[in-house]
Amino acid sequence: MTCHKHLNHCHCTFVPSFVLNNLAKKGVNSAQVSIHQSNATRRKRKNKDVDMTTILADHSAQQMTAKGNALRQIYDCKQEYEQRVALVQEEGGPSLDDADANYAYEYAGVVRSYFENVLNRDSIDNSGLDLILNVHYGTNYLNAFWDGDEMTFGDGDNRIFTSFAKSLDVVAHELAHGVTQFTANLIYERQPGALNEHFSDVFGTAIKQHALRQTAHEADWLIGNDIMGPSLFGESLRSMKEPGTAYDNDLLGTDPQPSHMDHYYDGSSDNYGVHINSGIFNKVFYLVSMEIGTDKATQIWYHALQNLWEDADFTDAVAVLVRSGQILTKNKYVPLGTTQTIRSAFREVGL
Ligand SMILES: [Zn+2]
Repeated sequence: MTCHKHLNHCHCTFVPSFVLNNLAKKGVNSAQVSIHQSNATRRKRKNKDVDMTTILADHSAQQMTAKGNALRQIYDCKQEYEQRVALVQEEGGPSLDDADANYAYEYAGVVRSYFENVLNRDSIDNSGLDLILNVHYGTNYLNAFWDGDEMTFGDGDNRIFTSFAKSLDVVAHELAHGVTQFTANLIYERQPGALNEHFSDVFGTAIKQHALRQTAHEADWLIGNDIMGPSLFGESLRSMKEPGTAYDNDLLGTDPQPSHMDHYYDGSSDNYGVHINSGIFNKVFYLVSMEIGTDKATQIWYHALQNLWEDADFTDAVAVLVRSGQILTKNKYVPLGTTQTIRSAFREVGL
């Protein structure tokens, strides 16, 4: 493994800022507080990155390539806006009275197994990086995030959103941001950022389907439906099957995701649309999965992720995904005709 000198540390939140902004405008207090705290966390992260640079510079190359054992560590933030307040669970420990901590631990294991067994990857960095998960972050905090080296989950307010750690979708999506960071390292804005978001949705949904033993045809293809609280029951944050239809209500507004390049979002909100334009690629992944099965499609996508680069755009990603399809077809990992399936799916979305 090489030393990654310039990892793009995204502060990748599960709930997009435009969703929280809509909730805040409707007077949802927990959303207003969550936005304020996310901004504060982002500022803190910048300082952490400066510290990290110093630490990394001090480390020898030997230490940086040290292999870990992909061990899980669960921290309880005790409702403070601080990470790693109290270590409550380590690999192999007995289950706790805290359901959120138990779920975070269990789901991190499910995600780790999927990467290991289906994709032959050893944890986030393919070198056994330990999995650090923080639960009970803040008070009624309406989000979860990957910040460059660990995952953090809010409890939700049980009205708009429920606990983020209790959702396999969320845990898998956030952990996958780590995998992207250590592979293509896609910059978290514009098209590379939309691809970054897309890959997290791909692994999130693939891992959920695998765990539930669902086929592509049986799955709901929704992202975030299991964190919806009583006020939003039946809604979702994204639909990979029909981007743009995940929600439409008074509190959240209307799902802005396009499913075709004709409706590409070119505004500046959401880091120039990272959670918006990801819908176009999500639709492609759905179409390919329906033809060859979700695990096979995920293998192609994972192969492509390792061959993409930090400022890759949509056109680059189409070429790399088609190429990955060709290679995996040649090696008989996926059925004959898969390359054509991928190409025709991209044509359907205008790429
Ligand atoms: Zn994300």
